[in-house]
Amino acid sequence: MRIREYILNLSLKKKWTFLTALVISISYAAICSVIYVALNTWLYNNEQNNAIRTVDDLTSLFESQGGSITIREFQQNTGLMKSIVNQNQTVRIFNMDGYEVLRINDQSSKANIPITNEDLKNTAVFKAKIDGQSSIVVSRIVQIGLFQGYMQLIHPLQSFESMMQYMLTAMLIAGIGAILIAGLISSYLSNLLMRPLEDLRDSMVTVKEKGFEEQIKFNYSADDEIGDLLKIYLSMMDELQQSFAKQQQFVSDASHELRTPIQAIEGHLSLIKRWGKDDPEVFEESLNTSISEVQRMKKMIEELLDLARREKRDEYAYANVDKVLNSVKNEVQIVNSNASILIQYIGEAKLAHITENAFAQIVRNIIENGIRYNINEPIIDIKVNYLPEHIILTIKDNGIGIKEEHLNKIFDRFYRVDDSRENTGGGTGLGLSITKMLAEKYQVKIDVSSVFGEGTIFTLRIPI
Ligand code: ADP
Repeated sequence: MRIREYILNLSLKKKWTFLTALVISISYAAICSVIYVALNTWLYNNEQNNAIRTVDDLTSLFESQGGSITIREFQQNTGLMKSIVNQNQTVRIFNMDGYEVLRINDQSSKANIPITNEDLKNTAVFKAKIDGQSSIVVSRIVQIGLFQGYMQLIHPLQSFESMMQYMLTAMLIAGIGAILIAGLISSYLSNLLMRPLEDLRDSMVTVKEKGFEEQIKFNYSADDEIGDLLKIYLSMMDELQQSFAKQQQFVSDASHELRTPIQAIEGHLSLIKRWGKDDPEVFEESLNTSISEVQRMKKMIEELLDLARREKRDEYAYANVDKVLNSVKNEVQIVNSNASILIQYIGEAKLAHITENAFAQIVRNIIENGIRYNINEPIIDIKVNYLPEHIILTIKDNGIGIKEEHLNKIFDRFYRVDDSRENTGGGTGLGLSITKMLAEKYQVKIDVSSVFGEGTIFTLRIPI
């Protein structure tokens, strides 16, 4: 359990190196064992066959001499036998009482292995240690003329054993070398693969500790999985950085915008405190301004809440365009009785794929702006064109218009065209941001075009 935990907690690099070395060692050990055992068996059989062949050859020699030959003749002339027996082998012939009668070579002492007559009739093969040396001992009955005895051949395994020893040493040295090389290569490879991941980790630590201040860069350009990972991370960090910056900007803008009315109220309250008690005119005016500033603040806070409240898109909502437009028209005209709002329809009525609330808020903001930023008697011209795939809605006003350079900024939070600041009418710079947020949520496309001094046209493409 401890070892398992220890291995699991190792660094990826070490795990990789360790695992590679382990796999290579096990495979190497398995292959070597198979080769060693096969070679050992094969070589041993060879040695044993050699020993038996010598015994066979001697037996054939004795048999070929016929019945007339005597053991004495062999004792006197061992030349023929010597040519059959290898130099390292020792052959002894005993009579049946175990008394040695003939010996060829004297490399090893006599083997004292108790064997039965039954064993001797066949060829008895043993492995034994003689004079401290492993040897093969072959024994068999011999018949030389009238003499009957048994032959004992000792075949030392010296060369076989040193050969096996040599093999084992070579395999061990090669194995250790192979494991070392494999370890080095896998450590180099894991270093190569882990470096970008380590860079990634370092960058995450930096972001965690210092925020987005430092520029993130990786020295890895390969187009592989790790390259992909780094690219995704960079683009994610980029997005996060942008949204973080936007959020910071938003908070600072919001505080700034809220401070203005508070300062105004503070100023007027001080005015009332100092002069207002005696001067009813100052009192009345300061009170009215304070109330309108409080109302503006209330509106801004409500709008900020609208922006912050990221409700989910309602997939199953549909709005009746005619109904919503008319209710917004009535609502707006109660406050702006001098404004005229005209609505025209083209084509067969269809439901818009948006909630009635969101649709109402979008058009209300646009219509109110058309009335607010207007020095004429406001006329808002609305055209609804029901097309097969979507609804095109144009809202045209006869207001002051927007200069080209401001057109793409009016949807930004708190953005207000300078000229219109004096003519605030309670604007906060948030209305069109909310419109844009809702439009994006319900996939409504908004285009705006304007002629400065003549009026502005908002074109909405609403899905059905
Ligand atoms: P606000 O609450 O100030 O109206 P909006 O986000 O609704 O904020 O609009 C942003 C700015 O865009 C306004 O301050 C105004 O300068 C300009 N604007 C918007 N609509 C119109 C319009 N129909 N005519 C002229 N200027 C407009």
